[in-house]
Amino acid sequence: MSCRRCGVCCTRHQAYVRPEELGRIIAFLRITGEDWEKLYNDPGWEFNDFCLIRHMEGGCAFLRFEQGLASCAIYPVRPACCSDWQPGPDRKECREGMKRAKKSVKAILKGDAMNTRTIRQTVTIKATPHDVYEALMDSKKHAAFTGGKASISRMVGGKFTAYDGYAEGVNVELVPDKKIVQTWRADDWPEGHYSRVTFSLTNAGGGTRLAFTQSDVPEEQYDDVSQGWRDYYWKPLKEMLEK
Ligand code: SF4
Ligand code: SF4
Repeated sequence: MSCRRCGVCCTRHQAYVRPEELGRIIAFLRITGEDWEKLYNDPGWEFNDFCLIRHMEGGCAFLRFEQGLASCAIYPVRPACCSDWQPGPDRKECREGMKRAKKSVKAILKGDAMNTRTIRQTVTIKATPHDVYEALMDSKKHAAFTGGKASISRMVGGKFTAYDGYAEGVNVELVPDKKIVQTWRADDWPEGHYSRVTFSLTNAGGGTRLAFTQSDVPEEQYDDVSQGWRDYYWKPLKEMLEK
């Protein structure tokens, strides 16, 4: 059986990294050992010299989904426990993935599947990428420009709430001053449905170019949410940082 990229194995099991594997993963990610500890290492594991890769809502910190297909963000250097794993009908994880796939095919055939869209916006802000990153990730600064209470974890796998609880989600990837990826939902969305937001920050002639993407937005929410980012985020964010 070939792998159907359902991702169930990466949500059910925590991958372990042997000391001799750690260096090549850190080099691949271009991070420091300290970043590894902060972002990806599960601090709860202290029983031998292996590291356990941290899990967050939805599974391994390196698990990604694109159009329903799972992928591994460190695939070329993934640890042996992952590269040795063989899919097969005897694996309960693979059978579960198959069951889920059949269920969604049935939902599509019945017309129950949710239609979603992707929002893409770009804004230029006269401030450094560091200031923009901090405004988005620091609870107090976030609350200051949005005007709503915010509580934002600085950890991958940590939760956030913003706008007095209107929006909530989990940090999926954090690259200080460069990139924020989060799951994101609004409190009036269908239960359990999350979109994925990506804020990419690059230097642009003394300011910052913020490229924003939000995938899996329920179609009927698309216009409101799209306008909401312009009115309640980019506008007040510029007002606060460009003073
Ligand atoms: S490291 Fe990659 S392959 Fe291994 S569990 Fe995580 S996402 Fe899956
Ligand atoms: S559970 Fe099986 S089919 Fe699904 S991603 Fe893992 S190996 Fe592939």
